[in-house]
Amino acid sequence: MKGIPPLATTVVGSYPSVPNRAMLVNYCRGGIDPFPESMRQAVDAQVSAGIDIVSDGQTRNDMVRLFTTKLTGIRMRSKPVIIGEIGFKSPITAADQITARNIIGPNKLLKGIITGPFTLSMSCNDDHYGSPEKVTMAFASALNHEARELSEIVDILQIDEPYFSVEYPEYAGNIVSEIFSGIEIPKALHVCGDVAGIFPQLVELPVDILDHEFAAHPELLETITETDFSQILGYGCVRSDVNEAESVSQISERINKVLGCVGHDRLMLDPDCGLRHLSPEVAFAKLENMVRARDLVIENES
Ligand SMILES: [Zn+2]
Repeated sequence: MKGIPPLATTVVGSYPSVPNRAMLVNYCRGGIDPFPESMRQAVDAQVSAGIDIVSDGQTRNDMVRLFTTKLTGIRMRSKPVIIGEIGFKSPITAADQITARNIIGPNKLLKGIITGPFTLSMSCNDDHYGSPEKVTMAFASALNHEARELSEIVDILQIDEPYFSVEYPEYAGNIVSEIFSGIEIPKALHVCGDVAGIFPQLVELPVDILDHEFAAHPELLETITETDFSQILGYGCVRSDVNEAESVSQISERINKVLGCVGHDRLMLDPDCGLRHLSPEVAFAKLENMVRARDLVIENES
């Protein structure tokens, strides 16, 4: 695929770089926005680790609130409540992506990330639409505006739908088509959890990259071997739920296993999921070791 190198390394999204409490309190009182600095740290860490396609680190909020606080028709409670038509007001993450782009410059690749409409729907109470499908499609229409904004800034656009592995909606194809309508850059779908049962359906979706957790679910390798698919595979090869970095040899063993069924040009390497819950030192070591493992695999092949 144009612009994406074979065996590219990337991240799913979040990175453990958050402002301290004093900075947040100061910000709430009208002080300086501390998030550009958090973002700079998150982006710098990814670049230093050697990651090819970086993210803004999603430091500003959790994946649900990042979007539900900025769309119309939603009242924020401990679980957001939909009280009217879900609509797009103004760009949500575009300014942060521009900040990230300015940090990395034009030559490094940048990934934009939008939390999936189905996951947002399942994370809210609905007092307005009366059906999860209507809520989901309303989120998809609203977030298509965000997707169009981001596609002017980033090189790859990813939607995160962790709830697909909990319950796979029969209208999944409509969701993905709607949110990605008019988008020309490479489109990725990240679904964590056990996707063995739905992988044959995921491969039918109109996306260019399918990204899943293989470190926590190595048995998925069997499923992908048995399934015909044309997408690039995002291969989660370090665990995001274990706060200890895997060794280079352990990760390279995992990479060698997938290379038996998918070639370099159809493979991207990343952690299983976002790294938000790890310590910054461990998150960095995981990324650095993943890049070294990729380089070791290539070196041993030549
Ligand atoms: Zn995930």
